[in-house]
Amino acid sequence: MYTALYRKKRPKDFGSVIGQKAIVATLKNQLSMQRISHAYLFSGTRGTGKTSTAKIFARALNCPQSQELGEPCNVCETCQDILAERSLNVIEIDAASNNGVDNIRELREEVKYPPSSGTHKVYIIDEAHMLTVAAFNALLKTLEEPPQHVIFILATTDPQKLPATILSRCQRYDFKRISKIDMVETLLDYMKADNVAIETPALEYIASVSDGAMRDALSILDQCLSLYINAENTTITLQQVQNLLGAVDQASLFAYTNALFNKDTQAALEIIAKAFTEGRDLSRMISDIIQHLRNILVASQITTSDILDCSAETLQLYKNQAQNPLQLISYIKEFSEFQNQLRFLPQERLALEVCTIKLTSNIQEIQNIQKPQTVQTVQKPQNIPNVQTAQTVATSPTTTAGNDWQTFCNQLTDTASKVMLKKCTFEIKENYAYIYVESEERIQTLQMRKDFIKPSLLEYYNLPQETAIVFTVQNVYNNTTINENTENNEITINDLKTDLTQKIKMPITYEK
Ligand SMILES: [Zn+2]
Repeated sequence: MYTALYRKKRPKDFGSVIGQKAIVATLKNQLSMQRISHAYLFSGTRGTGKTSTAKIFARALNCPQSQELGEPCNVCETCQDILAERSLNVIEIDAASNNGVDNIRELREEVKYPPSSGTHKVYIIDEAHMLTVAAFNALLKTLEEPPQHVIFILATTDPQKLPATILSRCQRYDFKRISKIDMVETLLDYMKADNVAIETPALEYIASVSDGAMRDALSILDQCLSLYINAENTTITLQQVQNLLGAVDQASLFAYTNALFNKDTQAALEIIAKAFTEGRDLSRMISDIIQHLRNILVASQITTSDILDCSAETLQLYKNQAQNPLQLISYIKEFSEFQNQLRFLPQERLALEVCTIKLTSNIQEIQNIQKPQTVQTVQKPQNIPNVQTAQTVATSPTTTAGNDWQTFCNQLTDTASKVMLKKCTFEIKENYAYIYVESEERIQTLQMRKDFIKPSLLEYYNLPQETAIVFTVQNVYNNTTINENTENNEITINDLKTDLTQKIKMPITYEK
């Protein structure tokens, strides 16, 4: 019968536990010093070795040779019994299916009896966060006054779901995700031991999609073995692993992101079409694109490749794609939002195409078919005079003097200019001073006072003589819709623009 790799390769002693050096060292130290705690909490994501370590620890506690070896011997009768799961001293409870108070009450009855042989009774409670509140309360009583011979090991992927009373009674160990380097090394060893030839990049890819969970990596590897290993004794390639996972290859990701950055819609759509016809998993492609953009972003900020867990050559490839970090962040944001929406969009290809077109086209052209993306809430000033002064919510990156404008207006000697200008907004762009006025009529009145306004303005803002003054009407509803809620004094602005590089330029004028 075929044994799944993750069972076959399950570590049997502390030395074979991958990537948890600190935890293993502490546990071994406790064994040699005979300073054993009564309750342990092993937390961490799936496939990081929690249960395996708990079982090794349980054997080491009972094995007569462990004191000497620092490891369970795995050959004595005690070890053999535990390994074969016929020992009455090591009891594994799956809390996902035995989570009730009755199960724990039963356990409390049992713990009273000393071990039939050996020194310790070890209870390993897997998925401990699944226990009910009543079960936790029942367990707590045992944890408070455990019999000398009893040791609890609670394993969980979700420690925050455990009550504080339980947590405070356990010695806690946080199992780390296994690093890509550790994982690749281990997988290589496993494959060598089994006489399987596999390309290192293939293992690197498996390690990166498993996200630090050894069990996931081994089950992908298992699928590869059953699919690609035959009598001809071939080497498993990266291409084969990617085919199996329906993943898009690295080159396509580089090509796709290049097309994105160059706003080459056609090239980007061709890559999607190719991935689709090759039967690739497009939702995975979206996660891969996000990961790729993140790698470019990180690469642009670092000099060594260890943060990215990649080779120096790959780091350079990412660096070559470097973009403005804000731009990359906005792409990541767009794709992540799209990924969230995928649940509601059954047609992944269509979704990815829409996202691509949106990001590679001029945003203005498709604005009309877009729904408002972000909602910005602006607090309306409390004491609103009859006619409120225009305000700039966000300004363009050019020089502006919004804050000084009111001061400037106040010191004008011509009352009519003062009153009208105070309701305007003002912006300097190159050699032009723009004054945004509420209405055409007002522009005419202000034009007549230009000879008075211009010199005052140039002097106050210290502008060159050649500066031209432009009076213009700014359409408040340009690119935005404004919903006014008089109930709570709030104005909601729906910004139709989604491209972060374009700011909203919008003097709001509201009258009451
Ligand atoms: Zn032994």
